[in-house]
Amino acid sequence: MPELPEVETIKNDLLTKVIGSQIIEVSYTDGGEKLKYKFKQNLANLITGERIAGIERRAKYLYFHLSGGKILVVHLKMTGQILIRKSSTTSDQNTRIIFVLDDGREIRFTDRNDFGEIFLVEDVARIEDQLGPDPFEASYQQFENNLRSSKSGTIKEALLDQKIIAGVGNIYADEALYTAGINPFKSPKSLSENEIQRLLNSTKEVLNDGLTHRGTTIDTFRDTDGKPGSHQFHLLVYGKAGKPCKKCATKIVYTEIKGRRTHFCPTCQPKEQLSLF
Ligand SMILES: [Zn+2]
Repeated sequence: MPELPEVETIKNDLLTKVIGSQIIEVSYTDGGEKLKYKFKQNLANLITGERIAGIERRAKYLYFHLSGGKILVVHLKMTGQILIRKSSTTSDQNTRIIFVLDDGREIRFTDRNDFGEIFLVEDVARIEDQLGPDPFEASYQQFENNLRSSKSGTIKEALLDQKIIAGVGNIYADEALYTAGINPFKSPKSLSENEIQRLLNSTKEVLNDGLTHRGTTIDTFRDTDGKPGSHQFHLLVYGKAGKPCKKCATKIVYTEIKGRRTHFCPTCQPKEQLSLF
């Protein structure tokens, strides 16, 4: 699933490519017709003629601010992509909806698994209510308070909870816990202040690294040119089961936490910290 660095990469692409463009036609493909019923909206009637006035990312959501004041919200979920193509470019697989722009280009929304979301809202209050702070804006105190009041049994689940910190998914959660040296099974309530500070720092660090490499492409993530990211070549622990830890050479362990794929080093991320006394 695209996480913060992947969605931010797409946002940055969109900012340089489509601000000010007018949407002159919206068409659903045969495979995309179901989006109309899923969200009870026909975007062709609702946004044709609008200009794209601004683009924002919030957690894993993209907000397209339209000239009329409404906001087109996109969540890529598992396999969604946003591609910008000249209209003359051959069609892309799994295209669900096409926004034709006034300069001969198109924004194509593709989605192999069809979990993606695309809908128009007057304001984003109901989305924002479900989201905690962005990792780059979260203060230590906010992060600590959210972790201490978390109902999650493990810190891995807590990091995936968008109300605690917004934008982290499975890959970067594993990378952040490894970088901070924290066992994924630990209770969020049991973490020391030092561990919480390390975790906030490492979360920002791994997300920044992912952004530098224009995202992680393990399956379907692509930028708006259709190009994969390269952070998959820099991952430290995610997908490395059985391989030696880069810090201590212990074999990386694969497990599942509440059904989520989880990777960690049992030596660098011990369940119990050894007491110095
Ligand atoms: Zn290790």
